[in-house]
Amino acid sequence: MSEKPINAYSSALYGGRLTVDLDAIAANWSLLRSRLAPGSECAATIKANAYGTGQAETAKRLFEEGCRTFFVAVPTEAMALRQTLPSATIYALDGLFPDTADLLLQHDVRPVLGSLDELKEWAALCRTARKSFPAAVHVDTGIHRLGLSGDEFGTALADLELMGPFKPSLFMSHLACGSDPDHPMNQEQLARFTELTSPFKGVPRSLANSAGVLMGPDYHFDLVRPGISLYGGRAFDHGDNPMQPVAKVEARIMIVRNVPKGDAIGYGATQTAKRALRNAVVAAGYADGLLRRASSSDDRPGGFGMIGGHKASILGRISMDMITLDVTDIPEHLVQRGGLVEMLGPNVAAADMAAYAETIDYEYLTSLGRRFERIYGPLG
Ligand SMILES: *Cc1c(COP(=O)(O)O)cnc(C)c1O
Repeated sequence: MSEKPINAYSSALYGGRLTVDLDAIAANWSLLRSRLAPGSECAATIKANAYGTGQAETAKRLFEEGCRTFFVAVPTEAMALRQTLPSATIYALDGLFPDTADLLLQHDVRPVLGSLDELKEWAALCRTARKSFPAAVHVDTGIHRLGLSGDEFGTALADLELMGPFKPSLFMSHLACGSDPDHPMNQEQLARFTELTSPFKGVPRSLANSAGVLMGPDYHFDLVRPGISLYGGRAFDHGDNPMQPVAKVEARIMIVRNVPKGDAIGYGATQTAKRALRNAVVAAGYADGLLRRASSSDDRPGGFGMIGGHKASILGRISMDMITLDVTDIPEHLVQRGGLVEMLGPNVAAADMAAYAETIDYEYLTSLGRRFERIYGPLG
């Protein structure tokens, strides 16, 4: 892949830079695919701008790699993706919004029908047209979010008058506790999904997100829908993460200054210098997706950045447009006005930063702001 800046201004004008390694995303997809049960297809979930990495760029790269089925959340994402990939199979996980069926059909987007109302509306459309338009049917096996209840599913699918010519292109369900592979609910949902869908032969089935893929072949069925693992994130809360990082955020150093011992740093004066400090102030903040909850105070350590292999702890609160870092013990020549500090990437895992912010790497990645320069290429 060529490096492709998609930015309007010269690099030096940006407060920070987001680098996305599309080859790493492709490698993660291939790794997951290599672990699938025979006959199972590896799709890709690229909702929320492909977890912050860029929907069009990521979709194109995965299509080149051989991926043919894509999941997004909302119809607008599906419409945009259709422009990018004229021949891919596209599912909208959020299902059928009112008054959108015609548009979805025009753009060959398949809703994941998530309620009896949605199923009835789609089936009626098929009946009128005397043909089946492809759409998935989502059955709830325990998460109680989207999906027909087990009873509704069994009754509706067996009701030939309701279904008419509509033949679902996929049966789908979603795991509630995949991030903990030992949670008993995983096996319960697996059993429930198998039991509910087995009477209806000939429809492909999909249960697994990233965690489901890593939990092994029992969970793979005909198609898997990994998201976070493609982007290097953690599917499981604990244990090794076999995926490689795909994104790096670097923030620009604006000034380097001294803070006398005993003085406080940042909004709210929440952190006091315990010794004379040297601070670097970088031009990225929570408006760029560096979550404010990863701030530091005298009571609670915050996140960090990396400069030339050295750790630079966050001092005080993260503000909207800047972060203050402790560079006291870092060689001066590495900390220069205009230089870049890694705030997320190979040396600062999204999951680690997320832990400081009491959240998960999903939120970190999807928060990454639009104010950065965006580069596609190796993370270096
Ligand atoms: C987001 C989502 C996925 C992908 O989940 P990951 O945990 O990111 O792999 C799969 N299926 C559904 C229904 C989703 O909402």
